[in-house]
Amino acid sequence: MIDADNEKSRLVDGLLRDKRGFWQPERGTAPPSPLFAWPPRPTEAFKWLFGFPGYLFPWNVIYMVIAMLTWNYLQPPLSQCVDFQASWIFAIYVRNQVMLVIIVSAWHLRLWSFKSQGFKFKYTSDWMATGKRKFLWNNQLYDNVFWSCVSGGTIWTAYEVLMLWAYANKIIPYIDWRQKPVYFLVMLCSIQMWRLFHFYWVHRLLHWRLLYKAGHYLHHKNINIGPWSGLAMHPIEHILYFSCILIHWVVPSHPIHMLMNAHHAAFTPAQGHVGFEKLTISGNYSVPAASYFHQLHHRYFECNYGENDLPFDMWFGTYHDGSTEAHTQMREKRRSKHNILTEAD
Ligand SMILES: [Zn+2]
Ligand SMILES: [Zn+2]
Repeated sequence: MIDADNEKSRLVDGLLRDKRGFWQPERGTAPPSPLFAWPPRPTEAFKWLFGFPGYLFPWNVIYMVIAMLTWNYLQPPLSQCVDFQASWIFAIYVRNQVMLVIIVSAWHLRLWSFKSQGFKFKYTSDWMATGKRKFLWNNQLYDNVFWSCVSGGTIWTAYEVLMLWAYANKIIPYIDWRQKPVYFLVMLCSIQMWRLFHFYWVHRLLHWRLLYKAGHYLHHKNINIGPWSGLAMHPIEHILYFSCILIHWVVPSHPIHMLMNAHHAAFTPAQGHVGFEKLTISGNYSVPAASYFHQLHHRYFECNYGENDLPFDMWFGTYHDGSTEAHTQMREKRRSKHNILTEAD
């Protein structure tokens, strides 16, 4: 696949970059999930679900383990959460902020500070911006950390606190994993799918002109995205984005499900925005890292509102796989709509 802007491409650090320094993976975006293929492709769907890398392995299972460890070792007992008291709320707030800083920094330090793999698999040829007035303190990294922690960490914690209080007071439906182990496991594995569903619709809503101007513009200041850009959102966006947690008011669940849902929303944006197609583990061995699909959303704004694991964009005509054909289609659609948003590049 060749990018539409690639006429003046040049080789930089072993990667062919277009005139603006963007690199496109040879295969374009990850293909849509075979789980939703028609006619059905059951063998491929099975491999996609249980293979490596796939839907569950490695990242989803890692987030499940983090949620279980949190519940077992870093969680005040539910009996303490019956009333809103500063002691347990503060403990959860500190816990969440520490976890957020550790996980996002792990990505950032390795790839963006220590530059452990240089520009290998890097989508852009820039590092975090400095001296740009559109960012707080004229510094993209400081700006991104501020919005992620001060707004993101706080609103995420507020939702979690509300949920724990509701579990403790038996207001919302609770299940015990020992009584319903199969339901517990299926529910745990389904959370990413729910998140993809919720994210797509919330994101479409955020691109409605009024909400875009009120809040989502802030996330889109980041064209060249890094791990801290993932959760760099306006409080309005954080309120909508983390509302995925509210599903547990109606769907019976254990607090581990709620934590997994919240963690998935809080931690996966760092990975999705990491800016590198692959993470090199050693030598030539690498594992998938960022979402090139979402990278294209930050570059072009009006495509790829969701992720290819739940291919709403393909079904609703906003799909961009990085190919010249997809690019031409998007431009034609944009011309006909007279949209106010302009292309980033
Ligand atoms: Zn984004
Ligand atoms: Zn957007």
